[in-house]
Formats: sequence, structure tokens, C-alpha cells
Amino acid sequence: MHKKLFIPGPVEVSQDVLEKMAMPMIGHRSKEASELQRRISDNLRKLFYTKNEILLSTSSGTGLMEGAVRCGTLKRAAIFSVGAFGDRWYSIAESNNVPADKFEFPMGEAVDPKVVDDVLKTGKYDLITVTHNETSTGVMNPIEEIAQVVKKYPDVIFCVDTVSSAAGVKIEVDKLGIDICITSSQKCLALPPGLSICTFSEKARERAEKVKFRGTYLDLLALYKYIKKKDYQYPTTPSLSHMFALDYQLDKILNQEGLENRFKKHIEMAEIVRNWADKYFEVFADRNHLSNTLTTVKNTRGISVADLNKELGKRGFIISNGYGSLKEKTFRIAHMGDCTVNDVKELLQNINEILNLK
Ligand code: PMP
Repeated sequence: MHKKLFIPGPVEVSQDVLEKMAMPMIGHRSKEASELQRRISDNLRKLFYTKNEILLSTSSGTGLMEGAVRCGTLKRAAIFSVGAFGDRWYSIAESNNVPADKFEFPMGEAVDPKVVDDVLKTGKYDLITVTHNETSTGVMNPIEEIAQVVKKYPDVIFCVDTVSSAAGVKIEVDKLGIDICITSSQKCLALPPGLSICTFSEKARERAEKVKFRGTYLDLLALYKYIKKKDYQYPTTPSLSHMFALDYQLDKILNQEGLENRFKKHIEMAEIVRNWADKYFEVFADRNHLSNTLTTVKNTRGISVADLNKELGKRGFIISNGYGSLKEKTFRIAHMGDCTVNDVKELLQNINEILNLK
């Protein structure tokens, strides 16, 4: 039996979107390939509220995170981490021999913009990374306030991981001054995993021109240059199947559902799950900074999350255990992508029945 995914990625993919992955191939150096990538980029500009260039990568989001740190840092990177995916930025920097410092906040808490100011004030850093929506804890960082601070430092490249929020939460890239905004296909865009996307500002391009060793496959400047020179083509052979599905899904999101409706739906689903958690358990993260795309629930009843998932599995659902050290102490319910309010209600009803919650 297929288990309906309420894990924070991959998420359920609609049948009509899945079928687009089975379309016949086209040549990646054809006019159709240019048209496909150009149309996708134009639509993604709407989704990210930006005039900047859009880069696609046949990799998951971590690939573009690696490309961003490597191609964007000349001096030193400041990594602001509120959990596992913030930590990932740091290990990427370390393994690429990019000088970096990590500034951590306790699990369940958000980045304090005042600390960002104090760090950038030192003048030591020329790139910062922020995780917009920390999938390990269910914290959504105050990106507007952080952006206000970063704007005071025009030499700093602002990289934001919106892997588990873009297309579910409004992220206005140009208004926020984000230079590189990254997401993956398998979260709020509700596509299969394997493709990642980022916005790429002129400032990021100028910086990358000055970085000597940018690697090859994840060289953001190479991706950018190919788009310009070869009319929206990809330097190597991209996952065209993902691109067919993304092209179709973007049309659905923008022209059928509507972005504002999609954002509203995510808020509505989040409120339902938070209210349920308040009633029967506790919400784990700081109440002022809760994610709209997943809820991390504190296991105040001491249930076995593994057993709950086993029972849910028999009924055709799956949720996520807590991440890393939060395993069994918390569990996570994702409400992202094409998931609906009714899907969420159905899941919670089943959990109530299994745990005998009244
Ligand atoms: N950042 C966040 C916030 C994530 O949730 C994830 C995936 N769970 C990643 C980065 C890594 O993305 P990917 O698995 O697409 O490489």
C-alpha cells in the first residue's frame, strides 16, 4: 500500500505531474530545450518575486548550497545555524576549504538579527548563509528582519536556503535583497527529488567572477554564462524529465491555484496542526517563529513515535520522527506542497484514533 507522505520531503506528487516525467525526450541542445528552460525561469521569477537570473541544477538543493558558498566567498563566510540544515552550510564550507565561522542558536530558537548585525559589523565576512525554514526543528527564521540588517553591508553576499519553504511561503527575493535563494524540487513545489533551483543576483555574479576556484559541476557562474550564451540551455545534460514536470507544475501553481492561495493554504494547514499539537501535545519551536510548512511536536505524552508510524503505515500514512537528537523526543508533521487542508485533517483524525485522543 502506498503511504501518503506527511514527511518534510519528498512529498506527495500529483498523478498528472508524475506523468509529465514520462514525456518523450528532446535534445538538450534544441530550440525546444531553450524554450522550456526560459519558460521555467520566467515563471520562477514570478514565484521568487525577482528580476534576477534563475539557475537550475540537476542535483538536490545541497548541490546549489555548495555552489553558492564556493562561488560566493572571497574572504570568509558567516554561517547562521538553528539546526541540522544550518550546520550543513558549515560542513560544506569546511569541506571546500572555504574559510567560515558558525554562529549557532539553541534548537527550537530562531536567528537573532541583532547577532547578525554584531557579526557583520566586524567586517570579517563577505558572505552569509541563513536557513529560512529549519526542517529539523520547525523554526522559520525572521527573514525580513535579517534582511534589514544585511542591507547595511553591501559587500556581503546574502544566501538563503528556502529548500523547505519556497512555493509554500512568500519569499520576495528582490525586496529582501537576497543574492542567492535556493530551493529543491521535492518540497513545496511538490515534484520528485533531483532538481534544484536558485536565484542569482548581479552582485553574486560579480563576486563569482573574482573567485578563482569555483569547481566545475556546481560552478554557478558557468551555469549563468551558459544561459546567456546558449539561450537558456544547461552546460551538461540536465534532467529534462524534471524540467517537463516543473514547467507543468509552475503553470498549475501560478495560473490555476494562484500563489497567494497557495501561501494561504499553507498557513491554514499549519494552524490546524499547531492547534492540534496545543491540544494534545506541545509545539516544539519558539511560538514567534513557527514554520508554515511543517510542525515539530514535542512528545509530551511519551508515546513511541516509531509505533505510531507503524500503525499509521497500516492506514496508508507516514509522518516523520524527530531529527537527529530530537528523535522520539519530537515528531514532525509536514504540511507542504500539494497537500490539502482535508489531507491534514484526515491524518490527524487517524492519529487521534490510534492514540485514543479525545
Ligand atoms: N535545507 C533544508 C532546510 C532542508 O530541509 C533540506 C532537505 N531536507 C536541505 C537543505 C537539503 O536539501 P536536498 O536534500 O534537496 O539536498
